[in-house]
Order: sequence, then C-alpha cells, then structure tokens
Amino acid sequence: TELAYIRNFSIVAHIDHGKSTLADRLIQLTGTVAERDMKDQLLDAMDIERERGITIKANTVRIEYPAKDGNTYVLNLIDTPGHVDFSYEVSRSMQAVEGSLLVVDATQGVEAQTLANVYTAIDADHEIVPVLNKVDLPAADCARVREQIEDVIGIEADNAVEISAKTGIGIPDVLEAIVQRLPPPQEGDRNAPLKAMLVDSKYDPYLGVVVIVRVIDGVLRKGQRIRMMKSGGTYDIDRVGIYRPAMENVDELGPGEIGYITAQIKQVRDTRVGDTITTEKSPTPKALPGFKPSVPVVFCGLFPVDTNDFEDMRDAIEKLALNDASFTFEMETSAALGFGFRCGFLGLLHLEVIRDRLEREYNIELITTAPSVVFKVHTRDGAVMDLHNPADMPDPGLVERVEEPRIKATILVPDEYLGDVLKLCQERRGIQEDLTYAGSRAMVVYDLPLAEVVFDFYDRLKSVTKGYASFDYYILGYREDNLVRMSILVNDEPVDALAMMVHRDRAEMRGRAMCEKLKELIPRHMFKIPIQAAIGGRVIARETLSAMRKDVTAKCYGGDATRKRKLLEKQKAGKKKMRQFGKVEIPQEAFINALKMD
Ligand code: GDP
Ligand code: MG
Repeated sequence: TELAYIRNFSIVAHIDHGKSTLADRLIQLTGTVAERDMKDQLLDAMDIERERGITIKANTVRIEYPAKDGNTYVLNLIDTPGHVDFSYEVSRSMQAVEGSLLVVDATQGVEAQTLANVYTAIDADHEIVPVLNKVDLPAADCARVREQIEDVIGIEADNAVEISAKTGIGIPDVLEAIVQRLPPPQEGDRNAPLKAMLVDSKYDPYLGVVVIVRVIDGVLRKGQRIRMMKSGGTYDIDRVGIYRPAMENVDELGPGEIGYITAQIKQVRDTRVGDTITTEKSPTPKALPGFKPSVPVVFCGLFPVDTNDFEDMRDAIEKLALNDASFTFEMETSAALGFGFRCGFLGLLHLEVIRDRLEREYNIELITTAPSVVFKVHTRDGAVMDLHNPADMPDPGLVERVEEPRIKATILVPDEYLGDVLKLCQERRGIQEDLTYAGSRAMVVYDLPLAEVVFDFYDRLKSVTKGYASFDYYILGYREDNLVRMSILVNDEPVDALAMMVHRDRAEMRGRAMCEKLKELIPRHMFKIPIQAAIGGRVIARETLSAMRKDVTAKCYGGDATRKRKLLEKQKAGKKKMRQFGKVEIPQEAFINALKMD
C-alpha cells in the first residue's frame, strides 16, 4: 500500500474509559469481522486479561476503510497495555505508530492513567485526536471534559469527537478523523536493507512464537533469514501476515506496515520488545535507538501450599517464563515454607497475573510472601549487593548503608478526599512535590518509596477515596534511607517468610502492628505463644497469644447447632492451609494479611 493511504495509530485511555469497546466498534463498522463472529473485546485475548479488562500483550488489527474522499485507507491499530507495570512495552509500541486516539470517559474526565498514557504518546511525537466517550450516559459533560483536556493535558480539544462506543454514535466521525487528522507513516525506503521494530511477541500453541513487527525500511518476506540486532538470534521467516484480527498470510510487509512474522522461534524470551529486526545477508547499519530490556522491580516468594506440588510448580513456572521475558525466578528455600521460588515482576499487577495463572491454569495452590523491592545494600567492605529477599540481608554490623527505589506518583482525586490522600502518602514516607487543581479535582504529585507502594497502597488509596482516586507512577531512581531488616519470631523461632525491610523510624510501629495482626491470625494452641518483632538481636515489639480453652465451640452461646457446625467446618477448611512452624501452626493467609496496615 502507498504510504499516503496508511494510518497507524493506538488508542490511549484510562482503564474502563472504553478503549476496547471503541476498538470493537471500529472493527465492526468497517466490516473487518463478519457480524456473526463479533464478540465483545475482540482484541483482549487472554482469559485473565478479559476478566480484569486489561490488555497485557500488544495486539494489532488491520482495518480497511473507504473514506469520504473516495480512497480506501489501511488503518493499523495497535492496542497496547494501559498499565504502569508495562510502561516500557507501551512506550515501545507507541514508537511503532504515528498517532493516537485519546479516549476520555465524558462522565469521568481525565484520570491518572489518561495523563500517563497520553504523555507517552506525546513523547513519541504522536498527533492526537481527543475522543469523548459514553455520551449516551446522562452524566456525560463534554464541555467540562474538553476544558479539562486543555487545562490538564495542554492539547486542543475543540474538535474532540463525541461518541458512544456502546451505541455506535460518532464512530464514523472517528474513522474520518483518523484519516484526515493523523499523519501517514514517515517515508521509508523499500530498497534499503530491512529495518523493522519488534513491537511485541506472544506464544501460539500451533505456530510457536508470533512476533508483531513494524517495518521502517526494506521488505519482510517469507524465506528471509533475519537477525535480531540486540539479542543476536537468527531465524528463517516461515510466515508473514496481518491480523484482521484473525491471522491472514500476506506475501510481504513493506515500509510503514504492521503485521506479524513467525520464524520457528521457540520462546518469547528470545524476543525482546524494542529490538531491531534486519536480514542476515545485508543488515541495516544502524539499529533503532533506545533499546532496554525490562527489569523486574517487585519480588516475592511463591511456595506451594502442598509441598508435593513443588515439581509441578517448577514445570509451570518454567513454561510461563518461556513466554514472558520480564518475569524472573530462582529456587528459594525457606525454613518456614520449604521449597519454592523467588520471583521477579514488573509490578504488582504482573505479579498477580502470574500468580493467578499458576493457580488457575496449573492448579497449584500458592503461598505468596510479602512483595518486596530490590534494595541496594552497601557493605563495609565496599561491595554493593542487590537485595531481592529480606532474608538475605547481611548482619547489621556489616552494612554501611541501604538504598531503595523511589517513584514519582501522580494521583488525581476529588477535592473532598484530598486530605485522606495526603495523609496516606505522608504515612508512606512520601514527599509532596506538587498540588494543583483542575475543576473540582486535585492533582497531587508525590515522591514515594516504591517499597511502601508495592504492598497495599492501591487498596488503601481506593478505600480512603471510595474508589474515586486514580494513580500512576514511574521510577525515579535509588536513594539512601535508614532501612533495616525486621524479623518476626513466633514461639521464639524466626519465620523467615515474614521478615521485611522497614524504615528505622517506623520499625516499632510496624512491628507492633505485625505482632497484633499475627495474634489475631494465628489460632490458639494448647500452650502460650510469644510473637515478637526484632531488629538484629533486639526485640522491638511483643504480643502473647494465650493458650486455648478446652472447647472452641464453647463461645457459641446456647445450642445454635448451625453456627457450631460452621465454626467446625471453618476450622477444618483452615486446617488444610496451615503451615507448621516448630510446634505452631500458622494459616496461609497470615503471610499476606499480617503485612496489611489499616
Ligand atoms: P477499557 O478498559 O478502556 O478497554 O474499557 P472497556 O472498553 O472495557 O469499557 C469499560 C466499560 O465501559 C464496559 O463495561 C463497557 O461496556 C462500558 N462502555 C464503553 N463504552 C461505553 C459507552 O459509550 N457508553 C456506555 N454507557 N458504556 C460504555
Ligand atoms: Mg480494555
């Protein structure tokens, strides 16, 4: 196709503002998919993605659109993950297109991820068409949202397209706007050596690894021997195609085009987002700029509840890792939990997705230890270690200083909840950097320790703002602070899986909270159980769980038989998920719940 008739674009939006629904409507209105094959959220393929309404892998679809100017255009939509965990992937796929539709829910207005995602698009030099969605709802206020887009984002919104992705209002206008207002791809040279960007890749059980590519120069064809310039692998292309969104083979992909290739690549791990694809025979002299492998920032231990599942778990983890280059794992042994794995993730959502898949697709019940970040520990002998697990923290006497990752967080929240948000950020050792207003909403910017965010910050933020706050962040870098390891001892035995890094000034408070929580979470035994928090050898907090009375059902007054039975059943169910620590049984949930702060 001639470049003048190609438009490559992505859709950026805050979660739930209607990105997937709009994509569906564009596909439907252009007849890309026969009506009978239409189902909601065509682009969100994976089950977990569908259930959570999030997209993790980039998807692409080619749409043909006969425009009002009499020409038929080829529109390539790249649907990218909208979540901060995958921000590097998002920024790469943005580089593969020239424009974005900025979808804003007209009943909600601009949210934190709207900002984060639109700034990524602006960084990639995109032309941006604002689209106001959900105008079918009575609460839609297009005038207000227009103003907000102009004030907060700083782009013109006069000519924003008003639509309802649900009912179909305005969809033809979106198609016209794509053609008229977004630029065609930059001139590429068909005769130059091949230069293509690796946008994303995914595993297909029949075809092996399928790689989404954007061609800059040259032509991709079946039979070519290609080289990935950064990762170094060479492969023979056995298939070149496009998504409509079903896969369809084509003879070639030329400059400006987006599609896929397969080349007998065994693992997604062998393909790196942002890599440059060229031919082995006449390679392009210069790779695309800015390649960086994504590194995990959040770590936690995953242990099978049933120790007999360990081998199955290893298989499952290895399989998942083949198809997710940003997920890392190594074997870990815990005195408390036995054999398991220390796993690294791009963020909390990534962690949840992997954990869910292990539990659901592979049927393995897991104990997850508290998520932790990577601390940089400078020891007195001048060495620096990356600490992935608080259990590996050297003796306090050997440590010179500890650095931790800090983030810049942007939070948008209705005025009335601002006070609670500031309090929460303050409690989490935040440093306020900015506070501005857009209408009745406040936008606060905080510098926060990532360690304080990875556990339950989202949950807390949602609960103190009744769900009205939105949040986004990026990592600033490492900074020193007074950080120590706090251990937890149950019945005088340290439970390694509960050890955590804390700020020295907060250690007593956290330690007390942990001991109190554990006292509630650990069932009574026939003997007294001391629960202690300690730094080095020094105990900083202590609770005592008193011994059990004879009959657990005694506290159910009277003869309420169902209540008694329920209590006993609950105890039985709880039994399965208990872990033995010396003489003490600790229920599985205790490992996560003990760390939640109210
Ligand atoms: P995404 O997270 O941005 O991909 O959002 P979705 O496309 O999944 O939409 C989120 C929710 O909003 C879904 O329940 C949609 O049915 C609903 N929705 C999307 N567009 C519209 C619209 O124009 N009007 C109304 N009333 N609901 C919409
Ligand atoms: Mg979606």
